[in-house]
Amino acid sequence: MQIKSFLTILLCFFGLISLAQSKNNTKPFIVVLDAGHGGRDPGKITTFGYNEKDIALDITLRVGKYLEDSEGIKVIYTRKKDVFLELRQRAAIANKADADLFVSIHCNAHSPQAHGTETFVLGLHRNASNFRVAQQENEVIFLEEDYEQNYEGFDPSSPESFIGLTLLQEDYLDQSILLARTIQDNFAQQLKRRDRGVKQAGFWVLHNTYMPSVLIETGFITNRKEGDYLNSSRGKQQISKSIFDAIVDYKSSLNSDVALQSTVIDSSPVASSILFKVQIAASSKKLATKPYNFKGIKPISRTQSNKVYRYFYGETSDYETALNMKGEAVQLGYTSAFVVAYQNGIRISVENALKTKTN
Ligand SMILES: [Zn+2]
Repeated sequence: MQIKSFLTILLCFFGLISLAQSKNNTKPFIVVLDAGHGGRDPGKITTFGYNEKDIALDITLRVGKYLEDSEGIKVIYTRKKDVFLELRQRAAIANKADADLFVSIHCNAHSPQAHGTETFVLGLHRNASNFRVAQQENEVIFLEEDYEQNYEGFDPSSPESFIGLTLLQEDYLDQSILLARTIQDNFAQQLKRRDRGVKQAGFWVLHNTYMPSVLIETGFITNRKEGDYLNSSRGKQQISKSIFDAIVDYKSSLNSDVALQSTVIDSSPVASSILFKVQIAASSKKLATKPYNFKGIKPISRTQSNKVYRYFYGETSDYETALNMKGEAVQLGYTSAFVVAYQNGIRISVENALKTKTN
């Protein structure tokens, strides 16, 4: 009897401790990692015997290991083994978890010469090659049972089928591009991979998620040299570390956001301190912020974080003006240019900048 009540007290005691702990802890940052393909869907396979599904899974598990060892991050995997998953199940896992980020990891395939990395966000593919990549990744739908009902008449082989897919992800586009750009910068700067850019295309797996989402093509397994690299432990380790660094970088840019939001509530008339700029380039090279280095555009400003210099065009408190400047930059060949926002000199998401301005 005495032992029993002692145990009850002990249990209550630990119950209180864990209650106190859970109150102190804020909600973890939830990252859903999605290893492409699996099971009866091998993804791309090459004559050298490389399987996309195996390489993608290996890289994904390594990214997950890094993230699990970081404070305040929770990792959820769509698959940890060689199993088949429908595309819509992958998105459902992320939505159910109310995740902060969805990262899908793949390998590319094309001619033996093609090489380099590219990271996609959901959007309308502007050209045939973006469509080709999306089409390959979407093709798994044909392997799923009842796909006609489940995908509401969506046909992976028809470009027209993609119009309308972009709507759900539109709210998260800026954040998705921010992460995608950081991933690509890391691959290019840290690992000297060829940067094929941040691109938009109609991927089903990104279509149904309600959070910033990217799909990474880590390289071409059809290229002998890149295939060997991606299949090696060194390659997998480096690629996964680069992805991990980008996620942490992205997360910390959001954290400064949260801190700022609370100061905004305290003192409301700070809205005017919001500034928009257009990021046009990132490089390990420090360039003079002169128009001749940037196709005649001015003014140019520069920031440095880690070993990466980022270059920005313009500065305005008006979002519409920023969008027009972005248009100009794209016209001049900075095709992955995007708008960024600052509050009191600290980077915040465009979404929050707009919210702050209208408050
Ligand atoms: Zn794939």
